Amino acid sequence: MVVWQEIDTVLLDMDGTLLDLHFDNYFWHEYLPVKWGEMHALEPAEAKKQLMPRFKSNVGTLSWYCIDFWTEELQINVMALKNDIEHLIQIRPHTEEFLEFLHRSNKHVLMVTNCHEKLIDMKMKKTRIDRYFHDIYCAHNLGAPKEENDFWVKLGQEVDFVPEKTVLIDDNLTVLRTARAFGIRHLLTIAQPDSKAGARDTGEFTAVESFRHLIR
Ligand SMILES: [Mg+2]
Repeated sequence: MVVWQEIDTVLLDMDGTLLDLHFDNYFWHEYLPVKWGEMHALEPAEAKKQLMPRFKSNVGTLSWYCIDFWTEELQINVMALKNDIEHLIQIRPHTEEFLEFLHRSNKHVLMVTNCHEKLIDMKMKKTRIDRYFHDIYCAHNLGAPKEENDFWVKLGQEVDFVPEKTVLIDDNLTVLRTARAFGIRHLLTIAQPDSKAGARDTGEFTAVESFRHLIR
C-alpha cells in the first residue's frame, strides 16, 4: 500500500482517520439537534430539518469546523455539549500500533486537521495520541481549511517537507484531491471512518481497511 522507503513525511488527519468519526457524526446529527430543539421547543426531527441546510451551506469552510462560529450562530454552548458526549471520543483500531511503527521508522509525523483547537485539546487529553506527533497543524491557525490549496501552501511555508516523499492519510476525499493538486504524491483514505456507519465509496483513492496493513 505504501513503499515506506520512499516516504520521509507522514501527514495524518485526526477525525475519521486516527479517531472514530462517530463522535462527530453523532454530535452534529443527533445530539446537537436534540439540545438545540429543546431550546426552541422543537421535536428532534424538526430541529434536524431546520439545522441541516445551515450545516450544508458551510461544509468545507473554516466556519463549518469552528466551535466559536456555531456557538454564536446557534446561540448554544457547543463545547459544553461536546463535553457531555466525551466518552464517544475513541481511537480507531490499531491506530497506536501504526503510530508506534512510524516512530520506530523515524518518519517525520505531523497531524493536519480542520478541527478547532479547543476540540483538539479535548481529544488529545482524552486519547493522549499527541505524544506520537512532531507537531500538530490546525487549519484555523493557518487560516484555510484543508479543502483549499492555501492550507497546503501555508503548511509548506511552515514545514520542510518534500511533497513527492510525503504520504497523506485522510478520510475526506475533497481534501485528498486538493492535496493531490498541490503535489502530494502518496494519498490514502479510510474505508470506514465512522465505526457505526458502513463502508463507503472512496472514489479514486486506495482505502485503508486496517492500519495493521500499513505496518511492516
Ligand atoms: Mg477527517
